[in-house]
Amino acid sequence: MKKETKCIQAGYVPGNGQPRMIPIIQSTTFKYDTSEDMGKLFDLEAEGYFYTRLQNPTNDYVAAKIAALEGGTAGMLTSSGQAATFYSVFNLAGCGDHVIASSAIYGGSYNLFNVTMRRMGIDFTFLDPDCSDEELEAAFKPNTKCVFGETIANPALIVFDIERFAKAAHEHGVPLIVDNTFATPINCRPIEWGADIVTHSTTKYMDGHDATVGGCIIDSGKFDWMAHADKFPGLTTPDESYHGITYAERFGKEGAFITKATAQLMRDLGAIPSPMNAYLLNLGLESLAVRMPRHCENAQKAAEFLQAHEKVNHVIYPGLPTDKYYERAKKYMPEGTCGVISFSVKGGRKAAETFMAHLKVAMIATHVADAHTCVLHPASSTHRQMSDEELVAAGVGPDMIRLSVGIENIDDIIDDLKQALDQI
Ligand SMILES: *Cc1c(COP(=O)(O)O)cnc(C)c1O
Repeated sequence: MKKETKCIQAGYVPGNGQPRMIPIIQSTTFKYDTSEDMGKLFDLEAEGYFYTRLQNPTNDYVAAKIAALEGGTAGMLTSSGQAATFYSVFNLAGCGDHVIASSAIYGGSYNLFNVTMRRMGIDFTFLDPDCSDEELEAAFKPNTKCVFGETIANPALIVFDIERFAKAAHEHGVPLIVDNTFATPINCRPIEWGADIVTHSTTKYMDGHDATVGGCIIDSGKFDWMAHADKFPGLTTPDESYHGITYAERFGKEGAFITKATAQLMRDLGAIPSPMNAYLLNLGLESLAVRMPRHCENAQKAAEFLQAHEKVNHVIYPGLPTDKYYERAKKYMPEGTCGVISFSVKGGRKAAETFMAHLKVAMIATHVADAHTCVLHPASSTHRQMSDEELVAAGVGPDMIRLSVGIENIDDIIDDLKQALDQI
């Protein structure tokens, strides 16, 4: 199936006389005839459902659709993108381990790594995604367990060189995790470029309608855990908390990572989405392949308008030929990048605030990447926990405005930008 078809049909195939739409199985529990039947599920010897904190059919249908879109072998939904980021790394790294992350990542991911996960005893090295080969090489330590980057960094819009980082990670026997939230599998499939694990905040384009917070993790099924057994004992030695199962042996490359994340992390930490939210996410996914090109087309026009405007200083959008990442974006995302633009207006912070205050169509919201055009000043909102030096390292200047272009009529969006710029 092509991606447009997968958006509609992958993940759930109704049988004769069954509902055409994914059923909402809004049930915490599942009934069995005998204790033995249920016991087999607990031992992961049979497939099936017993308690929604571990697995739920509605959630699994939707995870399977996203796995198909990304070209992966297994997937799980989480209650938020944050939970997906956390689980994807924590499934590999624990106390005493080390992780390499791009410094150009979502502010929430940076905080999760640099503050909360450090408190768990995990060490992080943040690398400029455009660092030299020597710097990249030097970042790896014997206890490094994975490398983490973002396809198009939110909000810096730095395009990650997936192939380069995948190669470096694999040379050191560790997987590459890529947060593909902004590009979506419609525009980029990181697995095709060597990524091993893909994460998403489905809250953004996938849901696309401001309706549900959610996340997902997709496994490429390609990383050979057993070939690096010493590094990943959680996958390659018996899990005593699960009756001595060795995930990589029992579920192979294709299933080990997601099974462990489900059996251990979901069981113990419990960040599941409700089946109702998974259903709503699926509605968004059905139109994803139609919405993404429209986001990109509108954003391209808005970026070109802003770039030509005398009151605008600098526009960052990987679709602009003048952008630092234009060529790299062309390679990884030939059909378009995303709907998010960042720019600064002449006159700094004050002018930015005046501009923001006069917008009518574009709404001030912490949200990005959905049907509605919204606008945000990251330094005073999403990234306010960062120092000025950290802001610059993350590619987010204190005078930067982030504009998330929706799928309204582009003339209305440009007229709105124009009248607000006139107020400066
Ligand atoms: C929003 C976002 C997250 C966090 O997702 P939530 O659903 O808000 O928890 C992670 N990564 C990226 C790139 C994001 O934009």
